[in-house]
Amino acid sequence: MTKIRGIHHVTAISGAPQPNVDFFNGVLGQKLVKKTVNFDDPGTYHLYYGDAAGNPGTILTFFPFADAGRGKAGPGMASAYAYAIPTADFDRITDDMAVHGLTTAGAGLRFGERVVTLRDPDGAPVELIESADASDTHGFHSVTLWERDPERTLRLLTDVFGYRHLGTESEGTGERHRLVAEGSERGRFLDVIQVPGALPGRQGAGTIHHIAFRTKDDAEQAEWMDRLASAGHRTTDVKDRQYFNAIYFREPGGVLFEIATDPPGFAIDEPAESLGRSLKLPQQYEPMRARIERVLPPLRVPA
Ligand code: ZN
Repeated sequence: MTKIRGIHHVTAISGAPQPNVDFFNGVLGQKLVKKTVNFDDPGTYHLYYGDAAGNPGTILTFFPFADAGRGKAGPGMASAYAYAIPTADFDRITDDMAVHGLTTAGAGLRFGERVVTLRDPDGAPVELIESADASDTHGFHSVTLWERDPERTLRLLTDVFGYRHLGTESEGTGERHRLVAEGSERGRFLDVIQVPGALPGRQGAGTIHHIAFRTKDDAEQAEWMDRLASAGHRTTDVKDRQYFNAIYFREPGGVLFEIATDPPGFAIDEPAESLGRSLKLPQQYEPMRARIERVLPPLRVPA
């Protein structure tokens, strides 16, 4: 039976785009692999960060809204994502972040691995987890889902998606479950936390909009649509996102899930060696390019 191959990308909402680029590209060293627009709102950017090639499992995307109000994570939302940092780089990077006042506290321990939490320009957590398997600083370690009642979500992840439940740890007054996907080195962990009495969150700058899981190709994605339908989860039709095809559904706890194809990838509309340098528009917006370029704020990309 086909299993989910881990995280494809994480999509979040931010405030103004320049501080976002300065932090994720300038400070964290993630490459801006695609500069495009929100396909549902072409007057705003959609920014994609990742490793040099924009491989699945490294992609963090933002919808920057200059006047987005500050959001707040809560049950029914993905509350954090974590980068896997090689052991050899962990102290240097986290010390450097601490010197620049970007960390919230010293290193904690989660399932035996050190974790340090940074705050991005919108106050959102960016977790760095020391990982013996990581070969660079671009891949995700895990994403955390915050659930009021995790049972049905855990069942979907294990029984339908094929994740394996690795263990449970207590955390504060709640608990954290850890799951692992097979066959993917990056983004293979998924955590589910439950915190008693937590207030509902609200979508806005500094919150995660959805998380996307990897699938190999269109045929496997169609299989997922059928499997999810038989399990009682109705997905959207396939949406052409230019760099992957996507289907969406809400998992039982309320988090928006996407299943995205690995192909065609980010080199479909510009050379692999100059990813992210120029504004790319899907075909339907090319005729409006001049107008769109006038509306979008200019962006300086440091590296
Ligand atoms: Zn997505």
